[in-house]
Amino acid sequence: MSGHQEYSFFGAVEKSFDKAAKFTNWDPGILEQIKQCNSVYRMHFPVKIGDQIEVIKAYRVQHSHHKTPCKGGIRFATAVNLDEVMALAALMTYKCAIVNVPFGGAKGGISIDPKKYTAYELEKITRRYTHELIKKNFIGPGTDVPAPDYGTGEREMAWILDTYMSMKPGEVDALGCVTGKPVTQGGVRGRREATGLGVFYGIREVCNMTDVMQRLGLDLGIEGKTVVIQGLGNVGYHASKFFREGGAKVIAIAEYEGAIMNPDGLNEEEVFEHRKKTGSILNFPGALNLAQSNDALELDCEILIPAALENVINGENAPRIKARVIGEAANGPLTPEADEVFAAKGTLVVPDMYLNAGGVTVSYFEWLKNLSHVRYGRLEKRFTENQNKNILNQIENLTGKKVADNHKIMIEHGPDEVDLVYSGLEETMISATREIMDCWKRNPSIPDMRTAAYVVAINKVATSYEELGIFP
Ligand code: GLU
Repeated sequence: MSGHQEYSFFGAVEKSFDKAAKFTNWDPGILEQIKQCNSVYRMHFPVKIGDQIEVIKAYRVQHSHHKTPCKGGIRFATAVNLDEVMALAALMTYKCAIVNVPFGGAKGGISIDPKKYTAYELEKITRRYTHELIKKNFIGPGTDVPAPDYGTGEREMAWILDTYMSMKPGEVDALGCVTGKPVTQGGVRGRREATGLGVFYGIREVCNMTDVMQRLGLDLGIEGKTVVIQGLGNVGYHASKFFREGGAKVIAIAEYEGAIMNPDGLNEEEVFEHRKKTGSILNFPGALNLAQSNDALELDCEILIPAALENVINGENAPRIKARVIGEAANGPLTPEADEVFAAKGTLVVPDMYLNAGGVTVSYFEWLKNLSHVRYGRLEKRFTENQNKNILNQIENLTGKKVADNHKIMIEHGPDEVDLVYSGLEETMISATREIMDCWKRNPSIPDMRTAAYVVAINKVATSYEELGIFP
């Protein structure tokens, strides 16, 4: 999945920021402060791998402290570099502002290929990285809270938590030092699928907007829409699942080794199992192989979801892309040139920093759960069920009619943790979509949805700076 890098990634984020800043009235000093990365920590540390000492290069960048803690994932990949971590940290600030998650943006990364190490070696690297963060006060429930990102998951978060807890015995809120943890280690139900689900909620909301669909020449609603997904990692897999369950048709899925296509629709679970068994997405029964992974991006479809890495859609391939809606599930999959091509073509680009905010939104719910030391729904589930039962009994007594058993189960059901997390996420994504679209409508000279999203984010962060006051 190569894309050629035409810009520094942080430069591209700055460029998008500047484009949007013109539609605001903030003091240039405040705008400059928002743009900069407040704290940048680059580290080298030695880890013994076999009988060799390897020097590992890693980063943590806190982009903004206008709200604390800072928040953002940790990525393990050879391509990790300072420019990338800075860009991703900045995107986290804007992302959190858009979905009203009260955190500043951060990001971390270790420049390694996780596939080259055993689980034991990865654990050593992760624990040592956590130590380095602790030493410099770059981690903690009130300062900076990491989470999973590309190349990391629940397992790594559990190692981070364990290292933190062993260094900070008795810290009552220690569980909140990292999110995306396994549910047994203080995680929250629904976090694993949160980003993919948020992508689905966001795109569904856009598809439910009459004026937007008319402008794009598409039918209203998500049902029956053709979707192409690039990347079958955690985000791509869950996005595929929720699109399929929501009535859309996932006609192609792309991975490193190539892509597969079936106009009748693909089931992500079966594709995932096939890849696990054969080591490749290709030769999936009933599907057509596309030898070049990137060919999938150019297929005839209504919705394209790049859910892999940055810069995969650029000035070179954008003119050939036929989708009418592009949902950026990954961070930074489009370059600024691609944005310009799509603005001219009238293709709707639903931007990353809002569309993939489901992950951090549910991380926020996890953090709240950790600070409150109680599972969501524990206090109200039984109470709600009893209340619903009483209401149903009253209705049955007064009308003399019986409610069917299957309806009864549905109506009586009190909320479990996962129900509350999903509904909190749904509400967040729907309101954020509306807020961005309203901003765009109020100012029709804004060229695209990304710029509108930046305007919303800049206004919120700048207001916060203004209310905080700047130190004399
Ligand atoms: N890595 C995810 C992102 O880029 C999640 C961050 C978080 O949960 O803090 O949004």
